[in-house]
Amino acid sequence: MSALKRRSFIASVATIPLSTFLPETSDAVDLPQLEECDPLTRALEYVHRSENNEKLCKGCHLFQGQPSTEWGYCGIFPGKGVNANGWCKSWIVKIP
Ligand code: SF4
Repeated sequence: MSALKRRSFIASVATIPLSTFLPETSDAVDLPQLEECDPLTRALEYVHRSENNEKLCKGCHLFQGQPSTEWGYCGIFPGKGVNANGWCKSWIVKIP
């Protein structure tokens, strides 16, 4: 690749919005819901309804989604939606 083509390529890539490469939180509700019986889910003891109202997915640092929506995205379970009122052993307090 010549230097000119490389510069043109880099310039064209630089115009792509960063959000293109990030998960779309608005799409999280469109993800298939995480199954509580899935082996990874069970290993992390994930549940759709937390027994502790102070430890909910929507209050977890790894939750991506609006607290007002029922389902969101979590990087621990890629490609699956987690319930905003759920919980798992990887819960960590959301840092404002
Ligand atoms: Fe919910 Fe666990 Fe993901 Fe936190 S790490 S958002 S508690 S599933």
